[in-house]
This record gives sequence, structure tokens and C-alpha cells, in this order.
Amino acid sequence: MKFLWSLLAVFMALSSSAAERKTRNVFLITTDGLRWEEVFNGADQTMFTREYGNISNPTNARAAWWRESAEERRKIVMPFLWNEVAAKGQLWGNRQKKSEVRVSNGRNFSYPGYNEFLTGIADPKIDSNDKKLNWNTNVFEFLNTQPGFQGRVAAVINWDVLPWILNGPRAQFPIWTPFDAPEGTVRLEVPELINDMAERSKTVWANVILDTFISAAAKHTVKTMKPRAMYIQFGETDDWAHDGAYERYLKSAREFDRFIGELWALVQSMPEYRDSTTFIITTDHGRGPAPVAWKNHGANVADSAYMWLAALGPDTPPHGERSETPPITQSQTAATVAAFVGQNFLAASPKSSPPIQGLFVP
Ligand SMILES: [Zn+2]
Repeated sequence: MKFLWSLLAVFMALSSSAAERKTRNVFLITTDGLRWEEVFNGADQTMFTREYGNISNPTNARAAWWRESAEERRKIVMPFLWNEVAAKGQLWGNRQKKSEVRVSNGRNFSYPGYNEFLTGIADPKIDSNDKKLNWNTNVFEFLNTQPGFQGRVAAVINWDVLPWILNGPRAQFPIWTPFDAPEGTVRLEVPELINDMAERSKTVWANVILDTFISAAAKHTVKTMKPRAMYIQFGETDDWAHDGAYERYLKSAREFDRFIGELWALVQSMPEYRDSTTFIITTDHGRGPAPVAWKNHGANVADSAYMWLAALGPDTPPHGERSETPPITQSQTAATVAAFVGQNFLAASPKSSPPIQGLFVP
């Protein structure tokens, strides 16, 4: 009997915390390989050269991006993050302020990273970017099976491997990709104009398109389908960095930030979302340090394990830029996404890492 009462107490504690939570909708928004250094410090002027950043006019670059303080510089690259999220949400990952967010898969490249934060498992068996269907369960696939979320989950993604990482055929929530998807994937419908323009824009890289079409497809989906859980993936930042084009990397980070601000304004204008929506914003890996290794990442670039994560929503205490935080790993993202909407991802995926404490009211 005593056991039953304690069980009941635990149950009531769990249900009351979920009931008090205001978040009814959750968005996970990522951009590939954006360094914590630019997020927290803004532009690094050592890359304002032809050799290190492919910049032909350093004077113009300095005028556009350089300011004396990191606080001013970072607002140029990511104004929404540093005006809105810093005031009303939280930003983790500034190593200079003893806040560390780490990739824990040891590989520091994309498939292992996307798998880690989408499924909560740093899986040593995932060792390439090959298009193999992921055996791990992702948090959106889980949410799509929960009452109230069935048919209310969607993803809009850029990089061409993600339909395999999300295991489209098994996950069954609709996915928009400008590329092929494995047979059985449910394709998310968007206006033909977006599909047509995306198709014609494959002129820069083989497996990533310009993020402008991701932005258009995602906004259309929010307005029409009104998903309660959505994953949106931007890709440009990683590719401009590999190309060594520092100013384009900065510009694509700024466009990522602008999209987040526009999406936030959009959801606050819709009754389905207003004051009941949380954004989690992060990346799949870091990169090496200035002035050369910033172009790359991987197991042999130790610094590329360090990354960043931000959250904004009605349940996140407004602590802004965090310092002296307990170290967290990217693998905690999946359970955090679920916890915001009162769902326990670990019940379905026991090997996943637990939610990040401190991002929501306990
Ligand atoms: Zn990369």
C-alpha cells in the first residue's frame, strides 16, 4: 500500500509538471556546422584576408562585420539570437564563460551528429555519411505516434542524406527535401513554384541547395499544416565554410538568424502557436579554430566537438547567455524536444540521453 501511494505521488508529480508546462508545439531548427565562436563572438577578423577567408576587400568586410566588442559583433551576425533569445530565452555553449555543449560521438561530422541529436544516441556504429537507413528511432518519429501529435509532425530539410538519417519510410511523418528520398518516404507537399525553383537552384553544391527554399517551404508548412512538432534544417553554413568563403558563411548564418526571427513572428501571429511554442536552435558539429582549421571539422579536429544550443519559449527561464553551466551533450537534444511538450522520449528509446536540466522550469 505504501508502495502504491509513493507510486501515485510520483505519477502526480510527473503529470502536474507536464500540465503546468505551457509548450504545446516544438520546433527544432538547425544550421549545419556553424561554430560557437561566431555565435558568441561574431566575425573573426583574422579571416578577413584572401588567404584565410577568400575575402578580396578586407576594408569592406571590416566595415560590414567588425566592431570592437564581441557583444556588438555577434549582434551583426545573429541579431534575433542576441536581441530576442538573449532577453527571453537561453544560449549555451560560450566556452569563454565556462558553458560547454559537446558532440559526444567522437566523429564531429554530419550523419553521426544529426543521428546524435535527433535520436539521443551517440552511436559508434555510425561512421560515415553514406545513405543508409538509420536504425535508431528519432524523436519526431516518436512524437508522431503520440496522442495529439499523430499527423501533426513534419520536417523540411536541405542536406540530401537527412531522409535516410530520419528513416523516412519507417518514420512516416511528411518530409520536404529538394533531393531524392528512400522509397516509402511520405513527401511533404509545398507549392509547385518552390519545388521548381529549388530544382533549378542546384548550381552551387551537389547535395545542398540555397537555404532560401528551406525557409519558403518551412513557412508554407507552418501556415497550412500547422505541425505541433517540426524539424527544420539549414545547410549553407557548412558548405561555405568548407569552400573557405568566410563572408558567405557569415551571411548564411545571418540569414539563418533572420529566418528564426521571421518564424517566431509568424507563430506568435497564429492562435494555434501564440505563447505555446518553443524553439530549440542548434547545430550538428563545430569546426576547427581560426585562421585555417575553421574550414574543417572531424575526429582529427578536436575543437570541432564544441558547439552551441539555444532555446526560446514560454517554459524556458530567461537566463540569456549562460555561464558556468554543467557540461551538456548534443545527445540530450532529442529528449529535450519531447520534454518540452510533456512527452518522455526515454520510455520509447531507453538508450537516449536525458533532457537538459535548466532549459525549462523543473
Ligand atoms: Zn561539413
